[in-house]
Amino acid sequence: MTKIFKCAYCIGTGQDPFDLLSAISGCQVCKGTGQVKVKEPSISCVFCSGTGKNPLGARVPCIVCHGKGNNYNESNNICNLCKGTGKGKDGLPCLLCKGIGLNK
Ligand SMILES: [Zn+2]
Ligand SMILES: [Zn+2]
Ligand SMILES: [Zn+2]
Repeated sequence: MTKIFKCAYCIGTGQDPFDLLSAISGCQVCKGTGQVKVKEPSISCVFCSGTGKNPLGARVPCIVCHGKGNNYNESNNICNLCKGTGKGKDGLPCLLCKGIGLNK
């Protein structure tokens, strides 16, 4: 099962949010369609707060949700290591849950 979401990275516009790419190439996450597919069940990405953007400030898509703003997750167990924040050392994704904030 997959669910269609508005692309978080470009907020559904299909354009690169940072104008790094030409207008023709469009958003690298949704390929300019403004929509992304995420496997169900899905949860909003805690690592980027659902923005789809890398929280470290780089002008690239979030490395956890790949810019989609949502992650596939099959469990509701809060990760013990990051306490559900998805963040590990130096602002990198938590090693245990891979930045999703939940574990199996
Ligand atoms: Zn997009
Ligand atoms: Zn994310
Ligand atoms: Zn974790």
